[in-house]
Amino acid sequence: MRLTFLGAAREVTGSMLLVDTDRAAVLIDCGLYQGRRADARQRNAHLPAEALDASAAILTHAHIDHAGNLPVLVRSGWRGAIYTTAATRDLSAYMLRDAARIQQADAEYLNRRHADDPTWQPIAPIYDEDDVAAALEHVVCFPYRRRFEVAAGVTATLYNAGHILGSAQVVLDLEDRGQRRRVVVSGDLGRRGLPIIRDPDPPPLPIDVLVMESTYGDRRHAPVEQMADDLAQAIEQTCARGGKLLIPAFALGRTQEVLLVLHQLHRAGRLPPIPVFIDSPLAIDVTSVFRLHPECFDAETRRFLDGPDDVFGFERVHTTRTREESMAINDVVGPAIIMAASGMAEGGRVLHHLRNLVEDPRNTVLVVGFMAQHTLGRRLVERRPQVKIWGVERDLRAQVVTLDAFSAHADADDLVAYGARCAARRTFLVHGEPTAQEPLRERLAGRGLTVEAPGRGDVIELD
Ligand SMILES: [Zn+2]
Repeated sequence: MRLTFLGAAREVTGSMLLVDTDRAAVLIDCGLYQGRRADARQRNAHLPAEALDASAAILTHAHIDHAGNLPVLVRSGWRGAIYTTAATRDLSAYMLRDAARIQQADAEYLNRRHADDPTWQPIAPIYDEDDVAAALEHVVCFPYRRRFEVAAGVTATLYNAGHILGSAQVVLDLEDRGQRRRVVVSGDLGRRGLPIIRDPDPPPLPIDVLVMESTYGDRRHAPVEQMADDLAQAIEQTCARGGKLLIPAFALGRTQEVLLVLHQLHRAGRLPPIPVFIDSPLAIDVTSVFRLHPECFDAETRRFLDGPDDVFGFERVHTTRTREESMAINDVVGPAIIMAASGMAEGGRVLHHLRNLVEDPRNTVLVVGFMAQHTLGRRLVERRPQVKIWGVERDLRAQVVTLDAFSAHADADDLVAYGARCAARRTFLVHGEPTAQEPLRERLAGRGLTVEAPGRGDVIELD
């Protein structure tokens, strides 16, 4: 039995892992690598040969760094089944289509920019919407905790990972030449008390091998309970100045969480009478998927669902799908809350709102997600005096408030508790930068565990 680490090894993007025995090989996740453009193109367009050898694939959740390269896999002639939950399948339909459209737009932009360069080789998108539809035809859905056969000698059970809607940990029971082994792959792990979805479930013991994420292996998050109070305070202060509150938010997960908390504040009479705009077609589509999957909700959200109104769309919420509707938000007079993608302010509609709002000190940019290095979002968090938007330097006079209570990832203490409870004979850390992995490795080793952080391409033989 072997593990081959094909992506998200000592980094947080491009998740891909191969688990194989002498009888079968199973691919866990096939994520898009996000990084410098040339690297990303090279890695995403050419999947490792090992991935194509897999007899089946299992998808942990619909984030693009886990699901985003499934269309390339299928386009390369791969014909296996892709197992996942129903919610992840439905979310992936929108997330992958959006990824295809972004690639299309990028390719068109680059080809246009180099139109006068005779040496330029026109580029095509890595995949298109037809490839997405073809990939979706391979998906087979199973609910949590229902054991199923994946390949010869391999059965799998999905356990709720509590990270986003439909997210799963994968429990693999392998049988090879009379040997039995249990391998657990955590996928991205959530934390207790997140709005909407249920808390992560503990996987069944005993576990021989654990492959776990380590994104925040070096950090503690503010408590989830602080979310509503912090958000209410930011809204109140912005309204008192007569300003607008802009929230750059990922279309999947963060937008729905913020909406639910806003709704709770509204019900509790703590939300001033101002309009709320969800300015992202993808967020609108994704929110419609949430409505289809109450089976993933926690008890609190279900109780809320029993109420008279829509959890994600109380009367103050306006959704704007077209470009014209989006631009019209610029004309709104007085305080308002505007949520728009992209989450790291790297592209999308959030940019025209930023251009419109950053120079006015009455406004607030509310940061509710991780901002990677070299993104506009990170420069806002760092409060640079000037920020470049569409090539023009603008003075950053708006307030910038960061709420890290909204993180959908387990923090260092959660990860240590999870790894220690699993108590696997060997633990492998993935989906983390070395600076986050090393302190986590030390803490887990302190609990008597054997912990490694493999690099990309590493093959580990399991005894
Ligand atoms: Zn994720």
